[in-house]
Amino acid sequence: MAALRRPEFSTRLTEALGAEVEVTLIDRAEAFVFVYAVGDVTSVGTAKAGVFAEGAARVVADQLIARIRGADVPAGYDGTGSCYIEFGRHEVARVDVDFFSMPGHPIGAFTPPTALIAAEKVLFASSRRARWFG
Ligand SMILES: Cc1cc2nc3c(=O)[nH]c(=O)nc-3n(C[C@H](O)[C@H](O)[C@H](O)COP(=O)(O)OP(=O)(O)OC[C@H]3O[C@@H](n4cnc5c(N)ncnc54)[C@H](O)[C@@H]3O)c2cc1C
Repeated sequence: MAALRRPEFSTRLTEALGAEVEVTLIDRAEAFVFVYAVGDVTSVGTAKAGVFAEGAARVVADQLIARIRGADVPAGYDGTGSCYIEFGRHEVARVDVDFFSMPGHPIGAFTPPTALIAAEKVLFASSRRARWFG
């Protein structure tokens, strides 16, 4: 399996800004208040998964809107997210993970597989498809 590497464009961004900017917690690069990074390219400490990229993107959107409106900037990303696990026979389990409450030690809760969570997963997927593609 190929090693995960930070894409070249983030290095170019660093060069363009004329400073070493570590891609870190999205609300900590205070010198560049309108420059954000979310998702797999960052080193925020969550798993590289779509649900965490989406959670961070939602925070970025809220923070950008607040900055543009001159309002109080809401808190940064809390590092939480949920992942679904297929068990077959129309049953799905869910893991709710929290990466930041105990730095270096992700904590979480496992909800055993049920048909109810399978329905929740279907809704999770269809709601994203509707929002992204109309
Ligand atoms: C096989 C596989 C299965 C996965 N399964 C799951 C799962 O079940 N659940 C889950 O939550 N996550 C899953 N993931 C992880 C998930 O896909 C990623 O965490 C998520 O896509 C990260 O989103 P992102 O927007 O950060 O990056 P990406 O989705 O990778 O988007 C980055 C985009 O930037 C573009 N790009 C790159 N370089 C440049 C450039 N120089 N200029 C312009 N554009 C550029 C790329 O083409 C790409 O479209 C899976 C990943 C893989 C590989």
